Amino acid sequence: MLIVTSISELQREISRVSPSQKIGFVPTMGALHSGHESLIQRAVTETDFVVVSIFVNPLQFGKNEDLDQYPRPLEQDKAICKHLGVKLLFTPSVTEIYPSEEENTIVNPPTAMTSVLCGKYRQGHFQGVATIVTKLFNLVRPNVAYFGQKDAQQVAIIKKMTKDLNIPVKVQSCPIIREKSGLALSSRNQYLSSEEKEKATLLYRSLSKAQRAFQEGQRDCQKLLQIVKEEFRSPQTPLNKRGLNLNDSLNKKDLNDINIQLQYVEVVEPETLQPLTEISDSALIAIAAYIGNTRLIDNVILTVTKPIIALDGPAGAGKSTVSRRLARELGYIYLDTGAMYRAITWLVMENNINVEDEESIASLVANVQLELFPSDNLQIPVTVKINGQDITKEIRTPRVTNQVSKVAAQSAVREKMVALQQEYGAKGGIVAEGRDIGTNVFPHAQLKIFLTATPQARAKRRLIDLQNQGESNIDLDTLIKEIEERDYLDSTRAIAPLKKAEDAIELITDNLTIDQVIEKIKSYLILVQS
Ligand code: AMP
Repeated sequence: MLIVTSISELQREISRVSPSQKIGFVPTMGALHSGHESLIQRAVTETDFVVVSIFVNPLQFGKNEDLDQYPRPLEQDKAICKHLGVKLLFTPSVTEIYPSEEENTIVNPPTAMTSVLCGKYRQGHFQGVATIVTKLFNLVRPNVAYFGQKDAQQVAIIKKMTKDLNIPVKVQSCPIIREKSGLALSSRNQYLSSEEKEKATLLYRSLSKAQRAFQEGQRDCQKLLQIVKEEFRSPQTPLNKRGLNLNDSLNKKDLNDINIQLQYVEVVEPETLQPLTEISDSALIAIAAYIGNTRLIDNVILTVTKPIIALDGPAGAGKSTVSRRLARELGYIYLDTGAMYRAITWLVMENNINVEDEESIASLVANVQLELFPSDNLQIPVTVKINGQDITKEIRTPRVTNQVSKVAAQSAVREKMVALQQEYGAKGGIVAEGRDIGTNVFPHAQLKIFLTATPQARAKRRLIDLQNQGESNIDLDTLIKEIEERDYLDSTRAIAPLKKAEDAIELITDNLTIDQVIEKIKSYLILVQS
């Protein structure tokens, strides 16, 4: 690991990095702990050349803040960086960064974002952060910069700034690292005594209580804020009495003697930081509190996960039509599994791989990036991108249609596609259909519908379709027989047999129009969401 202290050395080393190498950057103020380490470790995994800076930036400290007192264990920090595989450590002095006494250029992010949350109490702080981060970005020229979600307002402002100023860097936010007690790691925790540290667990405890209420359906921000404030008012029980592994002999009185002052708690939209009254999508609930003279912050993100709607059922019951319409009306993604297999088939052919060559296909799918996007067009229910390329039209050509079943039958392809489908499921907001969607792919789907119709009704629909296509010499009884045979084969096959999941709602569509089926499913959806 190289350690540089001057801007010129830093620039020289950065210019030596090959353009084919990805630069990862972790700006810090030092006193490194596991929170910082998690950022560095991620950078080391995701990029080729990791740069860390340690600089206690005077510009982001207010007059009465802890600039002089801020911990600076440089030798220890160097050892941590070296151990983690950092390639270049930048530890400049204040005069190196701000050489002149004259007034410097200050980067000023939108007031709407800097005047809320911490910004209300730390005037000039985010201007100081934005200025140093811009300067460091210009010097290090990273491909990816890593920031902790612990400083949620900082991440939101830096993301906005890089977007507005077209700074070519990906800003990656990383999860908050906490102690076992829930306390978010912070260099400032060093200022706390063990009693104060225990008292400080109140921040996360109160946020967790609000989070639980949210998970149980509370969407009213005032009510969520009340929960946090209440928790600050109620007397404290020492952690060791609640079974956590603390060996201090603290008693209730000691803890209640420690002064903890809630500075603010707010619920805001996570990207714009604007206050919310009701949560419809996602929210950031952020808090700052003083323990003695030490100011601590913490936050949690609340996300409304939209459900998975899984439609199973026999062929000809209307699954595909209903799923497409339902997804469009709800603004969900129609998880078009057929399109996914078609996309892989297209890629196989595009790479001139023989469709029977299972080994080559397995390695091709291992790293494939396949994305589906909602579409307004019922004929083309999803937009499909593979490795970034839009192939929505290409996958519908006869060339692909002719080969798709051969590719889809391969176990490596199936495994990868099921994993991808489950990844979509984790995000929620999807309508998925298929023979084993509710039983195998999404056994935990919030709403499972087994869409069915008697063989007679399905045969009648099929007959009308065929007549519309100009086929007239087919009789109803033959169709009924065909459908019964297919149902039998589908429900007795070894892989992914057709069967109703135990918790699925059976919906018999014999006498229902498509609109009526959709209305019924929507009413079930309201029931599972309430
Ligand atoms: P600082 O040294 O306090 O400026 O922090 C440097 C980076 O580490 C910032 O992006 C912080 O958000 C991040 N960081 C600090 N504490 C934590 C934590 N507990 N978990 C995750 N990231 C953190």
